[in-house]
Amino acid sequence: MPQDKSNGIRRDTRVRPKIILVCSLVLILLFSILFSCAGSGATGNAPTNKYVIFREDDVAPNADFAELQAVNNVHIDKNVPLTLGIIPRPYLTPSGNQLIEVNHTFLNYMRSLTSNHLFQFAQHGYTHLDLGPSLSGPSEFYGRPYAAQYNAIKQGRDDITQAFGVTPTSFLPPFDKSDNNTLKAAKALGFTEYCTAFADFNVNQGYREGIKIDTISIELGNNSLQSMESATAQWLNDPNSVNTFIVLYHPSDFRAPDGTVNAAEVKLLGDYIDYLQGTGRVQFTTLDHSVTTGNGPVGSTSSEGTTAVGTTDVPDVGFANAGAVFAVLGAIIVFSLASVLTIRLRKNKNRRNR
Ligand SMILES: [Zn+2]
Repeated sequence: MPQDKSNGIRRDTRVRPKIILVCSLVLILLFSILFSCAGSGATGNAPTNKYVIFREDDVAPNADFAELQAVNNVHIDKNVPLTLGIIPRPYLTPSGNQLIEVNHTFLNYMRSLTSNHLFQFAQHGYTHLDLGPSLSGPSEFYGRPYAAQYNAIKQGRDDITQAFGVTPTSFLPPFDKSDNNTLKAAKALGFTEYCTAFADFNVNQGYREGIKIDTISIELGNNSLQSMESATAQWLNDPNSVNTFIVLYHPSDFRAPDGTVNAAEVKLLGDYIDYLQGTGRVQFTTLDHSVTTGNGPVGSTSSEGTTAVGTTDVPDVGFANAGAVFAVLGAIIVFSLASVLTIRLRKNKNRRNR
């Protein structure tokens, strides 16, 4: 009887660590499966967010004012955000802040827009003059020394801040032509978004010199409604396309040959927005993503036309990454424990054989 008891105790001490090991192994496996599922759920199963950004360039004291107001009113009526590319210094004189000194109607109108969350104030160069020594097309910045570019961008940014009380964070180089020094200067001055043509850096969407680059997808002024819709559908249906579609226009695109507002072109903008809303697959936002409206995947819980300020897909991405990290860590721990267990079993077997 005493012999049996001692054998029982010996067996128990040998089995208990194994049970603990197996239990923790199963627990870790369960956790890693749980986290990797949650991660893939945020990116794989959920529909990808698609954003349309409207960018209105050449907003300045010398812009076609009736056209500027007409297109902005379309955005207000449809509750669709708009990034305004402001030229701070379009004239050779006066030497002061031209946004304040030249055109008071423009100044007061722009100040009235600052309280409307649909409008983002972005900076479109400084003078918008062809000052770059480039043979490959006009540019205000391309090929100019870093200090000259930095000073021009800084002065323009300060003029916008002084005139409207808004400090721009998005930079749009005039003529969609710039270089690495433009990127560096914009970054050094606190800009976080940069929007230009694809050919400028051969980047569709991504980071260069620490600043986020997005590129123009289509120009409204050159296109019919049909060609706008077909380009948009192609982007929406291409699984490899970037998540942002940027539509560029200028107030002058809405000017009829007789100098009046081109009602047909204004209607085209409205019809195109209706088409986009009708797809049910896009969100409207600004370059800084400070405001998002629409009825795409992000806002699927809210109805068309509602506004969700500050809605972005960043938390989804963070959670997905956390899931992936947990899955990898879990796999490593499981592998280590399995190895330890195998070695222990083998040792026990050897001991028993001896
Ligand atoms: Zn321009």
